[in-house]
Amino acid sequence: MSKLMTGAEYRASLAKRKPLRVYLNGKRVEDVVNHPIIAPSINTLALTYDMAHDAEQKELMTTTSTLTGKTINRFSHLHASPADLVKKVKMQRMLGGKCGTCFQRCVGMDAMNAVFATTFDTDAKFGTKYHERFRKFVEYVQENDLIVDGCMTDVKGDRSKSPSEQADPDMYVRVVERRPDGIVIRGAKAHQTGAVNSHEHLLMPTCTMRAEDKDYAVCCSVPVDHPNIVYIYGRQSCDERKMDTSPAGQIDSGASCFGGQEALVIFEDVFIPNENVYMDGEYELAGTLVERFAGYHRSSYCCKVGVGDVLIGAAQTAAEYNGAAKASHIKDKIVEMIHLNETIMGCGLAACAEGKQMPAGNYLIDIMLANICKQNVTRFPYELSRLLQDIAGGLMVTLPSAHDLYNPETAEYLKKYLAAAPGVTVENRMKLLRLIENLTLGRAAVGYLTESMHGAGSPQAQRIMIGRLANLKSKQALAKNLAQIKE
Ligand code: SF4
Ligand code: FE
Repeated sequence: MSKLMTGAEYRASLAKRKPLRVYLNGKRVEDVVNHPIIAPSINTLALTYDMAHDAEQKELMTTTSTLTGKTINRFSHLHASPADLVKKVKMQRMLGGKCGTCFQRCVGMDAMNAVFATTFDTDAKFGTKYHERFRKFVEYVQENDLIVDGCMTDVKGDRSKSPSEQADPDMYVRVVERRPDGIVIRGAKAHQTGAVNSHEHLLMPTCTMRAEDKDYAVCCSVPVDHPNIVYIYGRQSCDERKMDTSPAGQIDSGASCFGGQEALVIFEDVFIPNENVYMDGEYELAGTLVERFAGYHRSSYCCKVGVGDVLIGAAQTAAEYNGAAKASHIKDKIVEMIHLNETIMGCGLAACAEGKQMPAGNYLIDIMLANICKQNVTRFPYELSRLLQDIAGGLMVTLPSAHDLYNPETAEYLKKYLAAAPGVTVENRMKLLRLIENLTLGRAAVGYLTESMHGAGSPQAQRIMIGRLANLKSKQALAKNLAQIKE
C-alpha cells in the first residue's frame, strides 16, 4: 500500500516545503500554513485526505493504482473504466457537500489524466519519450499522495493575438532557453486554484497552437517550492472576516472553516530538468491536450452539485426557522432547486458512463456531455442562489454581527427581536444566515458562482465545443428523411 496521508500529515508536508514567495494584501506571507486567510483553503484540502480514511467514504475516496496495484487516493488515479469515472463525480459531489466550497484537488487529477493520454499520443506520432517520463511522475505523486496543481490558464494579454503575436512575449508561458539537461520557462498562470497548497505544478499549454507558437507548446512539472516561482494571492469577497478568529468572528465569516484559493503564479526563468518535460514544441498536440483536460474538468464540476445540496438544505432550514416551510410556494421553490441541481448531476454522470478508453489505456469522459454539464453549471447555481436568497429573506444582508449577540448590552434585544419559529435560537439563525450569505455573496460564492461561470473555461468555450461536436448534418438527415425531402 502506498502512503495515504491524513489531513494532519498533509499539513505537515506543506510545512516541510522550502519557504514559498507568497504575497497577500501587499505583504510577503511568512507563515503560509497558518495565515488566517489561507488556512480555510488548507482545511478544505485536508478533508480530501481525511475522507480517504473514513470508513463510509473509502469506496469513493480510494482506489487501486493501475500503475502499481497499490491503494491510492482517487485524486491521483488514472481512470480505468466508466465506473471509475462515475465514482470520481460522486466523490466530487460528496466533498462539495461536506465543505461547501472548492476543494482544489481535481485540477491536478484531470491534468494528470489528460497529460498521460497525450504524452502517449505524442510519442506515437513523433517518436519522443515523454510518456515513460510522465508515468514516473504519476507514480511519484501516487506513492507520496501529493497534490498537483493543474496549471493551464495563461494571462493571455491581448485576446485578439496568438501567443507568438503578443507585444510582450511573456503573456503565455514559454521556453526561453533549451539546455542539454532541460529547459528554462518564463511567464505566468492566472487564477491557479490551490496553487499555494499543492506540492507540484503540472503546466500545460492553454490553447491550440501553430508552428510559430512552438516555444509556447510546453508541458512540464515543477515543485511548488521552486525558488523562482512567485505567488500573488487572490483577494476574495469578505476574506478579511477570517482574520477575526474569535467564536463570534467565525460566525460572521460564514460559519464554516472551509474556503477555496486562487493565486497568480509567476515563473521567473524556472529551470525544468528533462525528466520533468512532457511536451516541448509539439504544437500539433497542444489542442488535444487542452480539449481533454477541459473535458475532464467540465465533468468534474459535479463538485457544485454537492454545494447545491448545501444550498437546498439551507433553504429548507431557513424556511423551517422562519415558520414558512409549509407554504406551497416555498415547497415549489425547493423542488425547483432540486430539479436544477440533479440536472447538473445527470449530465456529469452521463459524461462518465459514456467514457471511452484512450490509446494510453486510461478513460476519457464523453466530451459533448461534459461540456453540456459545465454549460449548465454556468447558469443553474445562479438560479439556485436566487431561490435560496428569496427563501432566506433580507435578514441575510442586514443581520447584526454575532459580536452584538455576545455583547451583554445588546444580546437581549437581539434574542427578543430576531426570534422566529419556536425552539429556534437566534444564534443558530445567525449561523444559517451567515452561511447563506457566504455561499451566495461571500468567499464561498467565489467557488459556487464565479468559478462556476469561468472555471474550466467560460460559457462561450463550452458553446464552441458543443457546436463543433453536434454533428448537425446527421440531425438534418433525420429531418429530411422524415419529411421525405429528396435534394
Ligand atoms: Fe474541484 Fe470543483 Fe474546485 Fe474545480 S471547482 S477544483 S472541480 S472542487
Ligand atoms: Fe475550478
